Amino acid sequence: MTGVTSAPAPRKPARPRKGKGEGQWALGYREPLNKNEENKKNDDGLNVRARIENIYAHTGFDSIDPADLRGRFRWWGLYTQRKPGIDGGKTATLEPEELDDRYFMMRVRVEGGQLSTEQLKVIAEVSTDYARDSADITDRQNIQLHWIRIEDVPAIWQKLESVGLYTTEACGDVPRVVIASPVAGIAADEIIDPTPAIDEIVDKYIGSAEFSNLPRKFKTALTGHPSHDVVPEVNDIAFVGVVHPEHGPGFDLWVGGGLSTNPMLAQRLGTWIPSEEVAEAWWGVTSIFRDYGYRRLRNRARLKFLVADWGVEKFREVLEDKYLKRKLIDGPAPEIPAVQGDHVGVHKQNDGKYFVGVAPIVGRVSGTSLAKVADVVAAHGSNRIRTTAQQKLLVLDVEESQVDSLVAALDALGFQANPSAWRRNTMACTGIEFCKLAIVETKARAAQLIDELEERIPELDVPITVNVNGCPNSCARIQVADIGLKGQLVRDAEGNQVPGYQVHLGGGLGLDAGFGRKLRGHKVTSADLPDYVERVTQNYLKERNEGER
Ligand code: SF4
Repeated sequence: MTGVTSAPAPRKPARPRKGKGEGQWALGYREPLNKNEENKKNDDGLNVRARIENIYAHTGFDSIDPADLRGRFRWWGLYTQRKPGIDGGKTATLEPEELDDRYFMMRVRVEGGQLSTEQLKVIAEVSTDYARDSADITDRQNIQLHWIRIEDVPAIWQKLESVGLYTTEACGDVPRVVIASPVAGIAADEIIDPTPAIDEIVDKYIGSAEFSNLPRKFKTALTGHPSHDVVPEVNDIAFVGVVHPEHGPGFDLWVGGGLSTNPMLAQRLGTWIPSEEVAEAWWGVTSIFRDYGYRRLRNRARLKFLVADWGVEKFREVLEDKYLKRKLIDGPAPEIPAVQGDHVGVHKQNDGKYFVGVAPIVGRVSGTSLAKVADVVAAHGSNRIRTTAQQKLLVLDVEESQVDSLVAALDALGFQANPSAWRRNTMACTGIEFCKLAIVETKARAAQLIDELEERIPELDVPITVNVNGCPNSCARIQVADIGLKGQLVRDAEGNQVPGYQVHLGGGLGLDAGFGRKLRGHKVTSADLPDYVERVTQNYLKERNEGER
């Protein structure tokens, strides 16, 4: 061989490849990846309170920095409400400022749904003095007020905080209200009382900078009641009461539930957590979400996406090894109830007294009615009230001799202890009346629906849940209702675009937990809704097999 083979030219050292992160902090991706992340990086949402108190409340709505108005205000439970009269068809086409009214929705956190009569009276006063008598009980046990002016916010906070209520982190990319069994500590059949754990989580972590910048909202639920009365499957983190054969009562830990556009049910990590370790486990899971949760796309940022990608084994391993620095105890699965509890009606407590669960209509109440409820409750010797995850209200600690009189007095105020099946099992989100994301009306439509169905099918031997939502966001849990309604524009018989709903059929929680099926073309106009629900119900009643839901 005559030729000389030359050595290949030395290659340039490969540049370290920059991975395409999803914004997970623990992997070093801390650069803001979208407007929301940029806003959060620029200033902690909690800092906006000082500006509201010292500046905006004095200088007025027009002086509010847009990044505060449409971003950080949420950290204090404030959303601008929808300008009245804007058609649902325009929701997606208008800029946020075109949809903004000059008033706010204010969400008051009610941890575990636990309220005293004194606290309820203060909420009622705020409603009548500052919120045009508006008040809604939400399906996360909060109370929402509307028509709030920026000028009044500091005075409202002062009033609320004087009785231990607050709006801190009621909205925003933070740990939202801790929902809990409304019969915590009083139910005769309770497995374990979650109240000490709720208190510890709230005291240590709510309003703390440690978790004031999460990738997205983070929903917590705790229950020690066998009826799983807090919809645990659809929360980011849930602690569900269970008895360990060796260690006794504690909690089973579930992670990664959530509805909206990619619904997922929470999954068990297979651990048993004693009451005194719940807050620490909560801290670990929330820290994982903060550090590894995806921040690139808002619609992939909830914890459920991380859990789905990692799987529960890896999730538990990271929780144990990296955060808690110890192994958790394996635990049994809790028994799953056939139907989750809403506690409506009269029930005996563990101390011999009674609690009374009452149903307003789709959570819509008023300051005036809440003030009267507080008075009636106090006059019947009780001081404790609870809101529920089904937009209901409970009165605790009622002596047997007082029950009938209390039930009658609450009934006269529109809060029924023996409601029709339709009233009991229909929920509705805020909808187009106030919500900027809404496409259709919900609360009033649902109230009319209940009226009509009570006439047409007065007796039902099984509960049929109807959840009315104004858009795909599923605040009133579209996918887990027997009849889930997702607000959208639909065509009527003449081909006109009108408000209506995409129907999801056959969803549920508990024993048959699963998402309703969205049948192609299964849409109904708002006007046809009563006929539609009646038809579905009659067909079901006629054709069901024994025991079929
Ligand atoms: Fe608003 Fe949509 Fe949520 Fe209803 S489901 S409250 S319309 S965001």
